[in-house]
Amino acid sequence: MIVPPPLSKVNLKDFDPNDNGNMERDAAEAAVDQLRDELSVLQEKLYASNEKSLLLVFQAMDAGGKDGTIKKVLSGINPQGVHVTSFKAPTSEELAHDFLWRIHAHTPAKGYISVFNRNHYEDVLVVRVDKLAPELVWRERYDHINNFEKFLYDSGTRILKFYLHIDKDEQKERFQKRLDDPEKHWKFDIADMRKREQWDEYMKAYEDMLSKCNTEYAPWHIVPANRKWYRNLVVMQAIVETMRDMDLHYPEPQTGLDKVVIPD
Ligand code: ATP
Ligand code: MG
Repeated sequence: MIVPPPLSKVNLKDFDPNDNGNMERDAAEAAVDQLRDELSVLQEKLYASNEKSLLLVFQAMDAGGKDGTIKKVLSGINPQGVHVTSFKAPTSEELAHDFLWRIHAHTPAKGYISVFNRNHYEDVLVVRVDKLAPELVWRERYDHINNFEKFLYDSGTRILKFYLHIDKDEQKERFQKRLDDPEKHWKFDIADMRKREQWDEYMKAYEDMLSKCNTEYAPWHIVPANRKWYRNLVVMQAIVETMRDMDLHYPEPQTGLDKVVIPD
């Protein structure tokens, strides 16, 4: 099961990061290529109709594949219609506001797709694990987030949230590859080692997030992510299925097009 029932208790041990849907890599990659063409048409309709919008939220442990998924799944879409925002540790200005202030500033306008690489869930993840705010503060955020996402949904934004689920061994392998390959050194961050040591605490924080903020209007997808090719397919399918369901149409053309004569 990739989307658990809304607001049910999630235990990540029930979700196998190695799951490959009994597929072969070639078949999955071919399916992604085909869906990419459909996604491109759906995105053009979203943009042309200029009524609704889509928000894609990505969250994962370090080396979980957020960047790679965004690159693979969204390549092929007209860049004019997509905004990607990577949320880093908040600036002092951001910290002087409520935690959703900087997030709201990047939600999609009508006709657009916004992609969040990290997002407001950091405020119940790193903030909780590193005790950057007292428990009384972050505990209340699950409700605040649900209300915020409901507000966006009611305002015409469809929201899909993806937790890319890798295991600790896979993370180690990916870190090692970054260390071994000079062209990947830029991706290696010594600070990530500390987060790895906090793995179990993070898993608890993720489970709470996935239990408390998985709603009908903004579902969490728990994506098996040890195999990148299967991860890409799962994310691609979820996006395409949602956009098919959004009932997108090209707008009515201006009247009188049949009488237009293009001047020489
Ligand atoms: P890369 O995969 O390229 O390393 P990244 O998303 O890890 O990308 P970094 O600049 O390395 O980017 O890290 C961003 C850091 O900002 C993360 O450690 C994340 O936990 C932290 N961060 C994001 N939002 C918040 C927040 N609200 N409060 C505190 N820290 C945050
Ligand atoms: Mg990093």
